[in-house]
Amino acid sequence: MSTETDSVKVEEKLYYNRYVVDAGRPHVKVRPHEVPSQALLALTKICPAGCYALNDKGQVEVTPDGCMECGTCRIVCADTHDIEWNYPRGGFGVLFKFG
Ligand code: SF4
Repeated sequence: MSTETDSVKVEEKLYYNRYVVDAGRPHVKVRPHEVPSQALLALTKICPAGCYALNDKGQVEVTPDGCMECGTCRIVCADTHDIEWNYPRGGFGVLFKFG
């Protein structure tokens, strides 16, 4: 049996979240690199908020606006230390609509 809730896409639910940007103080940073590691490349595909992307030089960049603080990138790069990850300061970051 299908309900109306079953047909709501994840993207539609994420739309209701809000994000307070801490301008000039990103809570996630990518370590400078020439060629991205496999772990960094993976982030461009697995971050649920799409925060990671390749620039025109083939390097991975992060724009943490919209980060849901799921910690996936932190775990993937735990051994490689390709990123620096901290929680946003109080009052900044994601505001979840559905908890
Ligand atoms: S914590 Fe999650 S949402 Fe935030 S940048 Fe990392 S993978 Fe993306």
